[in-house]
Amino acid sequence: MSANQQSIPFLDLITPHKELEEQLIEVFRKALDSAGFIGGPMVEEFEKDFARFCDTKYCVGVGSGTDALRFALIAAGVEPGDIVVTVPNTFIATTEAISQAGARPDFVDVDERTYTMDPHRLVEYLETKCTFNPDRREMVHYCSGRVVRAIIPVHLYGQTADMDPILHLANKYNITVIEDACQAHGAEYYSRHDVCWKKAGSMGKAAAFSFYPGKNLGACGEAGAVTTDDAELAKKVCMLRDHGQAQKYYHAVEGYNGRLDAIQAGILHAKLPHLARWNEQRREAAGRYKTFLAEHTGIVVPHAPTMTRPVYHLYVVRVNDREGLRKHLAQAGIGTGIHYPVPLHLQEAYKHLGFHAGDFPVCERVAQTILSLPMFPPLSELQQRRVSDSICDFLATQPDNMVEFVA
Ligand SMILES: *Cc1c(COP(=O)(O)O)cnc(C)c1O
Repeated sequence: MSANQQSIPFLDLITPHKELEEQLIEVFRKALDSAGFIGGPMVEEFEKDFARFCDTKYCVGVGSGTDALRFALIAAGVEPGDIVVTVPNTFIATTEAISQAGARPDFVDVDERTYTMDPHRLVEYLETKCTFNPDRREMVHYCSGRVVRAIIPVHLYGQTADMDPILHLANKYNITVIEDACQAHGAEYYSRHDVCWKKAGSMGKAAAFSFYPGKNLGACGEAGAVTTDDAELAKKVCMLRDHGQAQKYYHAVEGYNGRLDAIQAGILHAKLPHLARWNEQRREAAGRYKTFLAEHTGIVVPHAPTMTRPVYHLYVVRVNDREGLRKHLAQAGIGTGIHYPVPLHLQEAYKHLGFHAGDFPVCERVAQTILSLPMFPPLSELQQRRVSDSICDFLATQPDNMVEFVA
């Protein structure tokens, strides 16, 4: 990116901000003029526009995506001791939020083609490991006696999980669905049930978004939001983000310091009108990668089922010798990432949950072969040619029969 003209970064956060530099600086001036740094009209304007973008009634700005998940869970009624079910291949923030809400994370495996929650595994979990108590209308986990209160499907890499069957099960067993939409701003899902396209963040009881700088819509610092159609839930999140108060110094509950900065909200407000175009550029880039890499049997490109319209937060491929390819690309000055190398159930931090290697075989297999290629809106065809050529050069050195995926 700097000295070496040929190098291709994994992510370019400089160009999109250069384009909007004047507007972004204006946001800072406005904040200085009014000394409105926390809350106020800049936050409210962004909340209004982002709710509209997500097709939801409410959006509540918070300090981060992790705050958004934690507040959404608490506001949705998750209580200490409950179980919240999610997937093991996500960023740890998903499960941190569960634990911080006092609940216990549990997992179901993912679909090998989409890497998102496998509804079949969810059915299996609910119908073989749990029993429904019709009087209390609660799904109870046999072994632990804990109530399964919520499910967090993660719209990973910018692609929505298969929400219809997940929502159907949740509805049947009175479980709340909170979407982790932290990687999916603007992604869409075709609901066969409702016969229409839906925006990520508009399908569950509530959803969490992150505006961490590298996300499809990123702040110039930390930021997040909860979206929902539920007025009561939105109100609770407003209180939780602001020390449990609706009126200054009158605290109905103990809350958190989890508000959205006015400057970050102003920046997000200035960037939001460009998000649809940026997402479109990512889709075009994904299309080009697919074309360039198509003939190779040694590489699996992302699979987008017809019911999803992904926004390619990440472009994740699979190859047998992931480490070899990663090194090869690094030598060519091409940045890559791994999202994520160690499934959550095998992380040191979750030793106490008692999971073992082999518990979620799809996720474990995937974690060893995935590689995230450079992906950002201004990624050029020329750059992608170089990435793809470099990949093809590498694959040509690999024995053909090595590649065997269960897809
Ligand atoms: C980024 C991310 C989060 C957390 O967001 P922060 O703003 O970093 O707290 C949660 N879940 C997923 C899937 C993410 O990618």
